[in-house]
Amino acid sequence: MTDQQLQQLVEKISLRFFAKPFLHRAYFNGRLRTTGGRYHLETHNIDINPKMADMSSKTVLEGVIKHELCHYHLHLAGYSGKHNTKEFKQLLKAVGGLRYAPRVAGISPQAPKVAKYVYGCTHCGLTYRRQRRINIQKYVCGRCRGKLKLISANG
Ligand SMILES: [Zn+2]
Ligand SMILES: [Zn+2]
Repeated sequence: MTDQQLQQLVEKISLRFFAKPFLHRAYFNGRLRTTGGRYHLETHNIDINPKMADMSSKTVLEGVIKHELCHYHLHLAGYSGKHNTKEFKQLLKAVGGLRYAPRVAGISPQAPKVAKYVYGCTHCGLTYRRQRRINIQKYVCGRCRGKLKLISANG
């Protein structure tokens, strides 16, 4: 989706759900990391996290746009438009906006953690991957009770 298509979508949602035009600009902003979007009080523009548009479900992107449009229309109407105000909560509910953008980290499957420590059993050869160091004086192989040794350590 391009910025132009995003702009058109925001304008369409604004008219349909808020019955008011969106007269500013909407952009994708790849620097947004943990939020789905941002409304700028100074410029009245809206930034949208491009990851929201990558998602298979259109309702997430629309929900994020509605959320930012709640800030936009309340602010232009003279309200603070902050999350904890009655006006914001009511408007958000009325238009079906998302209260929280889905955590961006939760959108794409999280990369598996790379094990920092790899241990091997000196007897049967079974390997163990761990985030933390284990005390090899104390712990033995779970399969054969053999002694463990450190094979590699990253970081
Ligand atoms: Zn917000
Ligand atoms: Zn073993």
